[in-house]
Amino acid sequence: MTPKIELSQVDAAPPPARKPPVDPGSLAHRELLGGEFWRGVPAYAEVSEAEFLDHKWQAKHSVTNIPKLVAALSGLVSEAFIADAQRGFERAPMSMRVSPYVMSLIDWKDPYADPLRTQFIPLGSRLLPDHPRLDLDSLHERADMPVPGLTHRYVDKALFLALDTCPVYCRFCTRSYAVGIDTEEVSKFQLHVNTERWERAFAYIRSRPELEDIVISGGDAYQLRPEQITQIGEALLSIDHVRRMRYATKGPAVMPQKLLTDDAWLDALTAIVEKGRRLHKEVVVHTHFNHPREITQITQRALDRVCERGITVRNQTVLQRRVNDSPATMLLLLRRLGYVNVHPYYVYMHDLVKGVEDLRTTLDTGLLIEKQIRGGTAGFNTPTVVVDAPGGGGKRDAHSYEHYDRVTGVSVYTAPAVHPGELYYYVDPIDLLPPEGQARWADPAEHPKILEEARAAALAAPRARP
Ligand code: SF4
Repeated sequence: MTPKIELSQVDAAPPPARKPPVDPGSLAHRELLGGEFWRGVPAYAEVSEAEFLDHKWQAKHSVTNIPKLVAALSGLVSEAFIADAQRGFERAPMSMRVSPYVMSLIDWKDPYADPLRTQFIPLGSRLLPDHPRLDLDSLHERADMPVPGLTHRYVDKALFLALDTCPVYCRFCTRSYAVGIDTEEVSKFQLHVNTERWERAFAYIRSRPELEDIVISGGDAYQLRPEQITQIGEALLSIDHVRRMRYATKGPAVMPQKLLTDDAWLDALTAIVEKGRRLHKEVVVHTHFNHPREITQITQRALDRVCERGITVRNQTVLQRRVNDSPATMLLLLRRLGYVNVHPYYVYMHDLVKGVEDLRTTLDTGLLIEKQIRGGTAGFNTPTVVVDAPGGGGKRDAHSYEHYDRVTGVSVYTAPAVHPGELYYYVDPIDLLPPEGQARWADPAEHPKILEEARAAALAAPRARP
């Protein structure tokens, strides 16, 4: 007779471990900042948790000019730092708006090195000259606008820019040509909330049966009132051929409080997601975390509410120098995003944007980071590193260049499914090139030669069949 094996005996004898025990450091993505961390900023020292979690309090107390910055940081930073920030904003294409949440996450003991300060508060001492190839609307979104505020570039997808305001203003914003108020450097293309403009956009979408996928952006969908979330969602869901919609908002990264305390907004979004589901259409949220420190216990609570409502959230990150340009930081970000149920979708090479050359890094850095992070977590939580091809080629897998010259920093892409026959040129920041490359860009007479060499090399490459 075969001896009977008790289940408890089986349980008691696990198979020998094939992997060594994990390094506790590899679980750092689960260590989310909690407690009343905001009290470290003088302006918020007396702020209660209830106030800090109130999205209206966050919006009302956002820092929107230098006097407010000085008032918020009284005694915490040097006068030299404030003067540096003042010079930075004088040359910036974006106006200032920083939420108390972000202000509280900046390490004010070392503001020069802090990755969150770097994204929102420019310093005159750090700014670099713009690249000669810079164009204010580098993605040529306006060139592909059949209606003001509606970009139709890809065959089946359109970008609907519903408004031009955001809960914060980011230095690196690709849409600095339109988002926020005018600055000393830039007069903005107007994209105010305007029902008549919206109706023209919906009419265009209705007239183009190939459009299945609509991004609702701006500006930022966080700034839409609940009834506007509903109005846009209902209008788009009523169009038979629209199958997918994404509300784009940076809000969860910079003001998660809204998801906890603005029930009307979250209910309006949820209702559109549920209605979409009943119509067998996908409605999701696309957000924009750039650094693991942006994710706290407040974020987790906020995104838990979103998860409970069955809403998918995907993330797009911008690769930025001194912010997230190391494999370790990027991997921590991806794991932390996965931990709070956000899918990392894209990492963008930084677009050519006015006044932020100090934030851009090389394509080589993007390629290296991609190699280092792939395999660090599940494939569906691993983003694709993309170049949004300047001039309107759309997003290209960073590895798909036809040619890349690391001396001049020029990479060349084709976009056969978007604009067949065209070549698109991305450029690394000049200060990170080897001396020979820097010397060539210093001479304007060399610029056309550099581009012609890149063009010829790309066309000579065996796979370059634009
Ligand atoms: S939230 Fe988005 S649209 Fe608004 S300034 Fe930042 S990057 Fe630009």
